[in-house]
Amino acid sequence: MSHLVVQYKSSMHMNEFINPYIYPPPSYLSFLPLHSSIHGATTNHRPPPPYATGFRMNQPARRYIITASEAESMARSKGLTVPQLLPSLVKSAQDLARTPISKFNVGVVGLSSDGRIFFGGNIEFPGLPLHHSIHAEQFLITNLAAHGGGPKLLNIAVSAAPCGHCRQFLQELRGVSKTQIIVTDQPLENPDYKPISSILPNPFGPFDLLDQETPLILEKHSNKLSLKDDSSITQNGNTPNLSNGYHELINKNEETLITEALEAARGSHAPYSGCPSGVALMDCEGKVYKGSYMESAAYNPSMMPVQAALVAYMVAGGGGYERIVAAVLVEKEEVLVKQEDTARLMLKYISPKCEFRVLHCI
Ligand SMILES: [Zn+2]
Repeated sequence: MSHLVVQYKSSMHMNEFINPYIYPPPSYLSFLPLHSSIHGATTNHRPPPPYATGFRMNQPARRYIITASEAESMARSKGLTVPQLLPSLVKSAQDLARTPISKFNVGVVGLSSDGRIFFGGNIEFPGLPLHHSIHAEQFLITNLAAHGGGPKLLNIAVSAAPCGHCRQFLQELRGVSKTQIIVTDQPLENPDYKPISSILPNPFGPFDLLDQETPLILEKHSNKLSLKDDSSITQNGNTPNLSNGYHELINKNEETLITEALEAARGSHAPYSGCPSGVALMDCEGKVYKGSYMESAAYNPSMMPVQAALVAYMVAGGGGYERIVAAVLVEKEEVLVKQEDTARLMLKYISPKCEFRVLHCI
């Protein structure tokens, strides 16, 4: 039986996820994603209330990337250099944030060494523990990584001082200590950029754990992975062949979904755990978005693959999360860090009708 058939049978309708999610006992903690380190989530899983997600309908199309030539032209028209232009774009980046919990929008723009400008905003998920939130700087780096930005991030302009979590996540970029940063909501007595090293001296970073040759985020990753023949998962009350109204569309695109999820896993940055993973999402129009897992040397700031795929969805103009109707996760089986349960939980809350499947790779 081909894996396509097997994974079809492992389909699961999120509405049918009736088994209460039982938070793994301590002996299972080593199977949790790295962001669960130290602070394990302890939520009860009742059906989510109909709250807002922070996405406003009918909002104008947002920009998440500006081309190099357009950036040059915008700067020139204002008599500025491109780094000088960045602070004026931060307000637009703040409008990208989805903050139904805090209502505190953080926006960040970054100039890549290829001349493009990338945007990021903070994303919150009501009903889920706060550590599922995507910070603006994480969004920015995921946006960069997903679109071949790089190899370096030269300048960052951000609306508020980066939190410790983000200062740490930025350490996954090679040479980031020299990246220049400016914070726009602070009194600009000295409105100049300053190096990241000035806001995180004595950092703990990748090379405390890795050798210098290991590729970092924004560098090419080619994890040698292939799908297992028998790669279905049938646990947690899996019910096959349920329909969420998009079964035909899902079947038509299932090969693309699987290919993209595998490709995302091959591109993931998981040097600390050796547990690469990737997620592909499909919306109700059949468009597919992929996201690669990205680890942090400090574990907790790691970006889960489902978060990264959601960033791809938003950057591509995706609207409300309920438009996501199918998801595929590719990861290894029987490893120390697994994404399955946390991805399922997240999808269950943000898009209850999403069909979620897991394929194992080797
Ligand atoms: Zn942050």
